[in-house]
Amino acid sequence: METSEVLDLLRESDALLEGHFELSSGLHSNRYFQCALGLCDPKRAEVFANGLAAKLPYEVDLVVGPALGAVVWAQEVARALGKPAFFTERKDGQMLLRRGFTIEPGTKVLVVEDVITTGGSAREVVDLLQELGAEVCGVGTLVNRSGGNPYEDLGMELIALAMVEVVTWEKGDCPLCAEGTDLTKPGSKTVLISGGGAG
Ligand code: ZN
Repeated sequence: METSEVLDLLRESDALLEGHFELSSGLHSNRYFQCALGLCDPKRAEVFANGLAAKLPYEVDLVVGPALGAVVWAQEVARALGKPAFFTERKDGQMLLRRGFTIEPGTKVLVVEDVITTGGSAREVVDLLQELGAEVCGVGTLVNRSGGNPYEDLGMELIALAMVEVVTWEKGDCPLCAEGTDLTKPGSKTVLISGGGAG
């Protein structure tokens, strides 16, 4: 699956918006990314999952992703591989495998995440699975926003369908504000500020 095809599908589903946005952090950006929208159509999710499955250089017995973001994604990737999917949950801040999900030592696992930003959640899943005796083969993601591979120190490959760079600026430094481009707050679908030429 080509990166351009992945990005087209993300744009088509409004998972990837391009323009001028105020993010929940208050920072401004030229892009807004909401991965859940890319996966909410099962047909599109299936295309993405098949794309990731085709990129895997190893075979696994199981797919595991952290709730909530990666539950659907883990399920779809597992379906593409013909393997089961588990999800982990956080309880009192700690990543856990619950609901009767058990790992046999030596189980080959692909850890998945829908979007890798810092890679922190998937890393906690890797740690947990390794403690339980699993052999974690690598991490697979739909979108990598980290700009690199946050699992390099673990000797683990990050397989991504697409790299998406989201540049952010403080309000005062935003070149799109300077251009007077309309500002949108994603989620609200409301234009906050009408563009007025800023000279
Ligand atoms: Zn701005």
